[in-house]
Amino acid sequence: MGKNMDCCSSRRRVYVPGPVVVGAGPSGLAVAACLKRKGVPSVIVERSNCIASLWQFKTYDRLRLHLPKEFCELPFMGFPADFPKYPTKSQFVQYLEDYAAEFGISPRFNQTVSSAEYDPTLGFWRVRTTTTTAASTISTNYNKGFGCGGGEVAVETEYLCRWVIAATGENAEAVVPEIGGIGEFVGDIRHTSLYKSGQEFEGKRVLVVGCGNSGMEVCLDLCNHNASPSLVVRDKVHILPREMLGKSTFGLSMWLLKWFPIRLVDRFLLIVSWLLLGDTSRFGLDRPVLGPLELKNLSGKTPVLDVGTLAKIKSGDIKVFPAIKRLKRHAVEFVNGITEKFDAIILATGYRSNVPSWLKEGQMFSKEDGLPKRPFPNGWKGECGLYAVGFTKRGLLGASMDAKRIAEDIERCWKAEAKHCTPFTTAFSS
Ligand SMILES: Cc1cc2nc3c(=O)[nH]c(=O)nc-3n(C[C@H](O)[C@H](O)[C@H](O)COP(=O)(O)OP(=O)(O)OC[C@H]3O[C@@H](n4cnc5c(N)ncnc54)[C@H](O)[C@@H]3O)c2cc1C
Repeated sequence: MGKNMDCCSSRRRVYVPGPVVVGAGPSGLAVAACLKRKGVPSVIVERSNCIASLWQFKTYDRLRLHLPKEFCELPFMGFPADFPKYPTKSQFVQYLEDYAAEFGISPRFNQTVSSAEYDPTLGFWRVRTTTTTAASTISTNYNKGFGCGGGEVAVETEYLCRWVIAATGENAEAVVPEIGGIGEFVGDIRHTSLYKSGQEFEGKRVLVVGCGNSGMEVCLDLCNHNASPSLVVRDKVHILPREMLGKSTFGLSMWLLKWFPIRLVDRFLLIVSWLLLGDTSRFGLDRPVLGPLELKNLSGKTPVLDVGTLAKIKSGDIKVFPAIKRLKRHAVEFVNGITEKFDAIILATGYRSNVPSWLKEGQMFSKEDGLPKRPFPNGWKGECGLYAVGFTKRGLLGASMDAKRIAEDIERCWKAEAKHCTPFTTAFSS
């Protein structure tokens, strides 16, 4: 509830004949479009005030798609031909806006799903959302006497539906690790979700914690804005050139996997990477024992696609440090005993799913990591009309595959069932 909560809260119950999709990111849009194609209407509820909020609010300015556009398309609509191979984030958002318009998708914004629970007596899911809205908007929208002359109104909506599709993503909440002395450090500490550009760090000593794609790219961005970045590399990591032999490394890998076993393709990728990038362990970036594709398959850990950071590490513009031991007022002590001064710390420590916080079920999703328990490609379907899109650790391609499967599955029930023929809506306030 907002701080200035006036006098009102209201509740209403809405019957939805088709599925309720939770989240209006690329996955939610993809599944809504596939359903629409099958003639199944759906309702998307989204906590933010726009589609693709991760891309619009929580990413840095220089971000482009990491993979070529042909591997990031949602079902039934390609990227415009005049977009570059790696579209910028604003181009990607534009593509998603156009996608939503093309399929007539209008999510219900500012509705955070607080719980979704199957009611076995009713045979329906109860999906509860909370919205805090200006009272004047409520009275205009519903004109049911909710308005109470200014302030805010908390609207609780309970959607009753036969199917629920979780599309809240693998990146719903920022992961902030526990670091000893974090309260002592007087400089700026922020997660990459709040980092926009190196511009505001010009001339500053910045420690970037985490060496995934985001951490590496933020370091490069800091270099380009005349900051002095250092990188904490705690784990082993595969760094591959983004392109090899004139093709995208991702595209080439997919093509090779059609013909050769994964270990052979991994060996090939590592040889070419060694030829193009040299021995990364010389710079403190040790490679895991498993190859990049095998590791991705087994653990979901994505290899870093280098966009120029490694050259800056080689030239000494970016320093590499091992894990942090503790933070001090103006400095960081590392596990190798070295202490260095820093003005700011950026936590490129990733994200996690928030499904366990709102989905009340114990079968399909793991309480630990919020991801489906069944491994790819079987994690998209649960019990009693529960589905998951975009939790395969296979990016937009994986989300598109889920979306198509889910729509086919629901279409079968939709056609077979008569329940959706009796829509009703009730609203009541308290
Ligand atoms: C920096 C970055 C770059 C990436 N680049 C690529 C790439 O190039 N290619 C690729 O294939 N993949 C890429 N990915 C991975 C993945 O494709 C994206 O994260 C993509 O946005 C996932 O889409 P999604 O819809 O599953 O999740 P999200 O985009 O996270 O969307 C989930 C939505 O659910 C909403 N939500 C969450 N909780 C609730 C709730 N309780 N109630 C209501 N709404 C809720 C959120 O507000 C959000 O809008 C990238 C990821 C990141 C972080």
